[in-house]
This record gives sequence, structure tokens and C-alpha cells, in this order.
Amino acid sequence: MAYKFIKWFEELSKEDVPLVGGKGANLGEMTKAGIPVPPGFCVTAEAYKYFVENVKVSKEDIKKILGEKANKGTIAEVLAQAPDEPRILQEWIMDIISRTNVDDSKQLQENTEAIRELIKALDMPPEIADEIKQAYKELSQRFGQEEVYVAVRSSATAEDLPEASFAGQQETYLDVLGADDVIDKVKKCWASLWTARATFYRAKQGFDHSKVYLSAVVQKMVNSEKSGVMFTANPVTNNRNEIMINASWGLGEAVVSGAVTPDEYIVEKGTWKIKEKVIAKKEVMVVRNPETGKGTVMVKVAEYLGPEWVEKQVLTDEQIIEVAKMGQRIEEHYGWPQDIEWAYDKDDGKLYIVQSRPITTLKEETAGEEVEEVEEAEVILKGLGASPGIGAGRVVVIFDASEIDKVKEGDVLVTTMTNPDMVPAMKRAAAIITDEGGRTSHAAIVSRELGIPCVVGTKEATKKLKTGMYVTVDGARGLVYKGIVKSLVKKKEEAKAEAGAAGAVAAAPLVTGTLVKVNVSMPEVAERAAATGADGVGLLRAEHMILSIGQHPIKFIREGKEEELVEKLAEGIEKVAAAFYPRPVWYRTLDAPTNEFREMPGGEDEPEERNPMLGWRGIRRGLDQPELLRAEFKAIKKVVEKGYNNIGVMLPLVSHPEQIRKAKEIAREVGLEPHKDVAWGVMIEVPAAAIIIEDLIREGIDFISFGTNDLTQYTLAIDRDNERVAKLYDETHPAVLKLIKHVIKVCKRYGVETSICGQAGSDPKMARILVRLGIDSISANPDAVQLIRQVVAQEERKLMLEAARRQLFEEEEEEDLF
Ligand code: PEP
Ligand code: MG
Repeated sequence: MAYKFIKWFEELSKEDVPLVGGKGANLGEMTKAGIPVPPGFCVTAEAYKYFVENVKVSKEDIKKILGEKANKGTIAEVLAQAPDEPRILQEWIMDIISRTNVDDSKQLQENTEAIRELIKALDMPPEIADEIKQAYKELSQRFGQEEVYVAVRSSATAEDLPEASFAGQQETYLDVLGADDVIDKVKKCWASLWTARATFYRAKQGFDHSKVYLSAVVQKMVNSEKSGVMFTANPVTNNRNEIMINASWGLGEAVVSGAVTPDEYIVEKGTWKIKEKVIAKKEVMVVRNPETGKGTVMVKVAEYLGPEWVEKQVLTDEQIIEVAKMGQRIEEHYGWPQDIEWAYDKDDGKLYIVQSRPITTLKEETAGEEVEEVEEAEVILKGLGASPGIGAGRVVVIFDASEIDKVKEGDVLVTTMTNPDMVPAMKRAAAIITDEGGRTSHAAIVSRELGIPCVVGTKEATKKLKTGMYVTVDGARGLVYKGIVKSLVKKKEEAKAEAGAAGAVAAAPLVTGTLVKVNVSMPEVAERAAATGADGVGLLRAEHMILSIGQHPIKFIREGKEEELVEKLAEGIEKVAAAFYPRPVWYRTLDAPTNEFREMPGGEDEPEERNPMLGWRGIRRGLDQPELLRAEFKAIKKVVEKGYNNIGVMLPLVSHPEQIRKAKEIAREVGLEPHKDVAWGVMIEVPAAAIIIEDLIREGIDFISFGTNDLTQYTLAIDRDNERVAKLYDETHPAVLKLIKHVIKVCKRYGVETSICGQAGSDPKMARILVRLGIDSISANPDAVQLIRQVVAQEERKLMLEAARRQLFEEEEEEDLF
């Protein structure tokens, strides 16, 4: 059949980027060059163009598709000003986009979502759909099958170009089966051209929206036994003589997404000597969903393949050389180092190449490492100091968690805002810089816990800093300097040595009446946090533990994997409870806003909220979806049954007494008895909770903890993550202090313990105020525990002195009278 909208890989070459995008053109080019690429075809950019330029849409259609959304914002404006006769889809899209301010993230979200909905809701013209059906049939027949498994990937005509690697910004669907499903996924790919992130990126990179089209690649799936990525030049050292291979079990998604730490092999070109082999513990793998037979799921290697596979070398030495040689061949073909995805097929045991693109971060002229060392400290960027310390290294800019593999040990991670999926890269980083966020943002919290210097809220780090640059970061003052500033790095080393010496001298413990506790979110740092001598954990955050299962937790449970989640949580909680025993550990139930959930695999169905901070989070969501709360309580019960009587449960974002009652009911349902098995408490984060504290106490609580990060944002009406208003964000604002004072007073009356676990607890000024207000404990970040203990001790002594002096004066006054 003569196709109009379909091109087989064999018909394509690297010149065809305008027609089939970078990915499609590359696959064609490699196929032609005899590189073993799984066969397939591209639904060309012409098809997308035909679709948006031929499908006519009326105002009524739009209203029907978008419903309520059509009455609001830009869409309402567009509809009001549009002519009455139907227009082609492209005109509507451009009309919406030309009115969108991409720096207004809410508007950008809403408008791009509307465009995506339109694309998905409108029928694909039969001229295109029929061709896709026919080509899919032909592809299947090549394998003697009715229907073959295919991957459907988007390939934007501005994607994967050497100048701007858009990696991971558009969709990929794996293990798709059947023509209808292929058509559906092609439309989803088209829609993905208009995600908020891709649109923003295009705008910032100066691409003309009206000229960016999208092709969809439909490619036979490799039934992957093992897979990974390879760089034909060492991306860490820039050494062009080395090939770096990452390998893991199952589909490559696990490696690309960073869910697994893959094996790493370094091979020398020419001699084909394996210079280095690091065999990693590969806990998880991605496989075809065995239940539905479609799509993919993440499974545990130990269960799926057997425990001995976790630490087994993935590629044999022969295979390492085979993969490396293939890499060399592809690099030679393109004349530039490549970043290649490869896989071994279970069925025929052969090596396949599924993607190749140029490494965009290598410097043209040199082969060796090029570290820029400077004497003079020149500030090139400013933000908020979020985690103290000096860090220096090579910048790696990423926009998405799928890119975290690019961040190597000692790099400076630069991104818009981090999320839990980026933690593996954050751990490797020498410093972290973000565009967005305040001192209580995800980047700030995690980096402090990891002890990595961090600057947040720079507004323009991802624009100003480029991958490959060298910078020095001052995480205390919020400054970024050009190059590796020798004097600063030296000072850091001296300070480290001094701290070691001082630590030895100041070993005598300070005893304070006000307990000084620590905040923990990663069980792996529990030992380190306990070594600070903290009097307990005033906040054990659940978010990291739960989100690091790598899939949306509700989805995870609904797929019948509750037990696995409970097990993992119990393991984390026990680690912390054991490190601190018998000191108390307060576990706070999950509090992740919808925008964080949405970032996770399986998070597509999360509602798009206009204002996630005021939305479905904390205990409100917990009670709406009790399966998660139940899993959390089951995990705690497991730990309690092992004899840990030092655990407390803390509910986030409480605003109504009945929330406490309902949560207790759920705990009892799983056999966890509040007040008996565990202490029971609430966070005071909503002004309402502070104002009605007496009602909350009557419902039955053992303790409260001030979540000043939220209490401040809700009291002052300041989004804590919005750097534009960060200057007005002040936890010591009189209104916030008034609420805190009131709560402490009432709690004292009823014998309820009081604490703080917001970021303000790590601030000496706030700590002094709280000691004076009579708080029972202060929970600080691990790096601040010592300082806060000193401040608390000093303030307590001052208080005692003042009291003694007052008494003395009173006595003297009495004497004067006589
Ligand atoms: C707080 O709100 O102060 C708090 C500790 O919780 P989170 O920062 O997780 O919202
Ligand atoms: Mg909070």
C-alpha cells in the first residue's frame, strides 16, 4: 500500500527530522546503516499537521469537550472573541497559546491541559487511522503474528536535536497491543506536544510553537531480558576514549528513570579492555504487566527472577565488549559521541539498539577533563541559602526525573524544583541549585538532611547555568560563583578539619530542659541523625519512604501490593525507631500534595488542582482514601509488635476534631490502639487548628507539633514555594507567634506536650522565642541540632538568671522599705 502518512524505518535517514522528528530519523538512519534496530514505522509529522489543519472545530464542540473549563480564563476569552464559524484546530491552539504567559504556571497548566484535552477528544481523520491500522498489520505479519507488541514514542521535530536535548519530555508507551490501542497512543503522543513543561521549554528555547510538529514512532518491542544505556564517551570525565555502559534487568525504563542503580562498566575503545566494573544491587526491574498483558509494571528482582540475580553481573564480559563495539560503530556512523539505549532480547538472545542521540554536553575541543579553577569569586547567581556549606563541581541541568542518570557523583544538580524521584541524583550531587522553592521546599529539606549545600529560589538557574559549566555554591548565603573558586573550597576543607577537632573537645553533652529533637525523612540517615544526640525524632516524614516505592502508592495498593508497601514502610520506621530507642519517634502520616503525586509513575490520574497547597493533602486526603492510612497504621503496628514502645503517630494538616476521631477509628480497625500502643498527636499547621486547640484536645491527643512551614503560609496567605512573595514569609510574624503562644498556653493547661517541627525550629531566633513561650521540645534539621541545643541552653540559663534576679530585686526592694 502506498502510504501518505506512514514511513517505514527503511525509508528514512537522518535528513528526515522535519518529517519524523529526531528519534524517528535516527531509527531510520541506523536501520539503513545495518545497525540492529527493532523494525517499525513512523506516523509522520504530516499526519499531525493534517490533523490540526483539517479537523474543524466549532465553539460548541469546544464547550462540549472542555465543559466548565470553557467558561474560565484564557479559553473563555478565546471563545468570546472567535468568529462563529468553525475553525481548524491549529487556529484554536495558536489562539490559546499566543495569549498564554508561560511564566504564569497556573495559566500555562490550564491552557495546555485544554489543548491536550481537545486533541485527545477529537477523532483522528480516517485517512490517517486507516493507514496506521494497515501498517501495524504489516508489521505484525513480518513476525507471523496477528498483533505484535509495540512501543509508541513521540518524536517531536524539535526533539533530540543536538542543540537542545528535550529528553524525556514527550510520551512513551510500552507494550502496546492492537491497532486501536496504537491509534489511541499516537493521539496521546500528539497531545504530549502540549504538556506545560514542553511548552514552557519551547518558549524559553525560542522555538516557534506553530512550527513544531510531532511524529509518533511505532516500533516492535524488544522482549527485553537485560537492557540499559551507553555513552560512547565518558560523560563524567569527558574522556572520548572510554565507553560507559549501564545495565540492568528487564526493560530499560528502570535505568532511564533512575529507579534502579544499574551495573556500570567502562571499556577502553580500541583495546576493548574492561577498565572498570561496578556491580550494583539491582532491587527492581520493569517488565510487561503479567496480569493485563499490556503496559509495564515495576517488580522486585528478588521475587521475579530470584534473590541471586540482585547482585549478579548483568552483562557477561563478552556482551560488555559486544555492546561497546556496537556503540563505537554507531558513533563512527554519526561522527559524534552518542547516548544509546540498548537491549538484549529474551526470544532470540540478540542485541538491539532502540535509540541513539548525540551527547549534547560534551565539549567539542577537548578529550580530557576541563575543570575551570579560578582565584576570584564572581557571583553569577543569587537565591536563598537552603542548606549550608560550600560545594563545587560541574553543572548538570535537568528538567525531569527521567534525566537523573546524567547527574554523576560530585556534579552540581540544577533544576526547576526537585521531587522525590530525583533523590538518587541529589545524593550524588556536590551541591543543588533550583529555580523555584523556599527554605521549606523539597530541595531544601532533602539537601539539609543529606548535608549537601543547596541554593533555592534563584528564579533562573536553569536558564543561566548550562550543563558543563563549573560553579561553586555557597549554601549558607545563597550564592553561586563562576568556576571552582579555590579559596572557598580550601576554606571548606579547613572548616571540616576544624569541626572534627572541635567536635572532640565539645564532647561533654549539654543538658537542656527543653528537649531538642531532630527531623528525619530518610531512614538511611537515621543513624547519622541519632548521632547528633537528639532527644528523639520530632518529625519522621512519610513522604520519602512512600514515594520511593517508585509508583503512586494508591495505585500500588489497588494493584494488590499493599503488603509490599506495609513491609517497606515498617522496615523504614523500624530503622528509625531502633536508632533512637528509647527516645520517642513521631511518625507523620503521608502529606504529599497532588502536584507531587502527579510526578510519579502512575500519577497521571491525579487531579489537576488550581492550588495544591490548599487542596487534597494531609489528613483530608488520608480520610478520603483510607487504604493508604490503613497501610501506614499496619506498618506501625508491625513495628510496635516488635517491642518498640517509642512511636507516636502525628496527623498532618488537621483542622477539624472529627478528623482525629476518624483517623483513630481507622487505626483501631487494623488493631493499633491510640494512646496505648502509640502516642497520638496532631500537627498545628492550619490557623483554624490553633484557634480551636481546646476542641482538638478534647477529642484526645497526647501531643501537638507546630508545622510552622504551613502555619506561616496559611496565616500570612503566602505560598511557601513561591519565591516572588518569599520576602514576606516570616515565621516570627506576630500573628504566627500569637497562635503559637495560645496553643502552648492551652496545651499546658491540659498536660498536652508541645513541640515544633517546621523549619523555624532550626532557626536560633525562633528557638529562643519558643523557649520563652514554654515549648516542651524543638525538632530541628540534623545539621542544626547542635546549634539549637546551645541556643536553647543559653536561653534557659538566661531565663533562670532573670528569674533569680527578679527575686533578688524584689527582696532588695522589700529591704529598702525598712
Ligand atoms: C510544616 O508544615 O512545618 C511541616 C513540618 O510539614 P511540611 O514541611 O512537610 O509541610
Ligand atoms: Mg506541613
